[in-house]
Amino acid sequence: MAAAEANIMDLHPDRRETVSLVGVPFDTSSTYLRGAAQAPPRIREALYCDSTNLWTEDGMDLGKLGTLRDAGDLNLPEPAEEAFPTIEKTVSSLLDSGRPLIVLGGDHSITYPVLRGFRRRFADVTVLHFDAHPDLYDDLGGRLSHACPFARVMEEKLVRRLVQVGIRTINGHQLEQAHKFGVELISMRNMPRLAGLGLEGPLYISFDVDVLDPAFAPGISHYEPGGMSVREVLNVIQALRVPIAGADIVEYNPVRDESSQTAFVCAKILKETAAAMIRGGAAPAEWV
Ligand code: MN
Ligand code: MN
Repeated sequence: MAAAEANIMDLHPDRRETVSLVGVPFDTSSTYLRGAAQAPPRIREALYCDSTNLWTEDGMDLGKLGTLRDAGDLNLPEPAEEAFPTIEKTVSSLLDSGRPLIVLGGDHSITYPVLRGFRRRFADVTVLHFDAHPDLYDDLGGRLSHACPFARVMEEKLVRRLVQVGIRTINGHQLEQAHKFGVELISMRNMPRLAGLGLEGPLYISFDVDVLDPAFAPGISHYEPGGMSVREVLNVIQALRVPIAGADIVEYNPVRDESSQTAFVCAKILKETAAAMIRGGAAPAEWV
């Protein structure tokens, strides 16, 4: 697979202030609970809800006409083997626009075909992966399950670096896998190591909502106490000073989110990620 050399900073000037958005309503690779396929419309509902507004914390108006280019939700068959090629092709063609892309999952299995789509355009992506789980199993409920995407990504050398943050469930097998693939792993109890990672663009952020403590985000399938706060995540995203080519927000499960509390968390992460993309490596504007 030949990947074109491209840099998100080469974007056409009138495209620098726009971000593409696409929903991938797919959850048949979940090992425990279904429901994540219902996430994309619920996140949009929270994003556009009159209870808040579309300004980011550093003063960008994402509600400005044309800032978010929403391609809608994919229509996908249930088996992963059939759905994944469609996800890969769609991501690749959305990247042809030259805009950064935010993908709304879906369970975390989708990050594998999404990153195959990115590989067609970017040869040297670094992934910043937020998660309670390393998702490095060789096989757990199939090799395409949501417990395996980063084993596939690393086997196929789709990215240059994989940096995992917030991990708090690693076992012997996955620790072996992490060593084998050279994964940089910052466990929840070692969070201070996050400073000084030396991240470079193009960056891809894979955000599994369960990196957060379930107290902040109960609308997820796998409860793993002892996680990050929303503010801790925002501090990391807002401190990024590298070009960001793409991101996903995965594993939000509306079935466990009657009050929509977690939908608003996803919308918040989406907004601040879009702002970091639009800044493109620059420092945030003076605001308040
Ligand atoms: Mn995950
Ligand atoms: Mn997880």
